[in-house]
Amino acid sequence: MSDWTTTVRQVLPRFFAVARRMRPTFHLSSLAELTPEFLSAQGVTLLIWDVDGTLMPWHGTAVAPELRAGWERLRAVQGLRHLILSNCGEERFVELGRIFPDVPVVKGYATPDGPVARQALHGSLSWSDGGCWDPAGDAEVSTIRKPEAVLLGFALKLAGDVPANSALMVGDQYFTDIAGANEAGVRTLKVRTVARASFPWPVAWMQRLETLMYRVFYGRALEGTENGRSEG
Ligand SMILES: [Mg+2]
Repeated sequence: MSDWTTTVRQVLPRFFAVARRMRPTFHLSSLAELTPEFLSAQGVTLLIWDVDGTLMPWHGTAVAPELRAGWERLRAVQGLRHLILSNCGEERFVELGRIFPDVPVVKGYATPDGPVARQALHGSLSWSDGGCWDPAGDAEVSTIRKPEAVLLGFALKLAGDVPANSALMVGDQYFTDIAGANEAGVRTLKVRTVARASFPWPVAWMQRLETLMYRVFYGRALEGTENGRSEG
């Protein structure tokens, strides 16, 4: 089963519980507006990134050209850590490790021993608990997907036990990126989806649905805020 059908299947039953947590701390229309000064003023030392729709088109192979300068500027900030949390499948996980060789790419798995994390970094994959599982071949091992809050716990721990209030989750989807981080006590930044037309229709449908839900719950004003100072 592909990544997106599984995500939809897991999210739908929790739809309303998740909808209550979908209000981000901040909205920005572009990464270009996410300045080092803003992050410093907010005490943010860790950025937890979604990839598809946030940094590049769906299953893209590099940061979108229009975001590259902003991304590089943030990567150059002293003392600011970066980590990627993706709902990707196994092949895409390896690919993201290649695209971002020096940024930890983290996935969570449900195993018979409980939830464990795996990260791709510097060209190799490693399990957080020293375990050795085979996600592709072991039916008892399954991916834990955003919006599960346990993933944020893994991210904070793997980034060096960063306190939740020093981290900021950056993503383009209210349900997967924002709701899970909110539940984990991590502040959230919603950005506009990059290359919306690149997404498979069920994901695009979910994006429209969650934007509609957001407007129903919270109104249009915040959704359109572009100054990055809209408190949630
Ligand atoms: Mg996304």
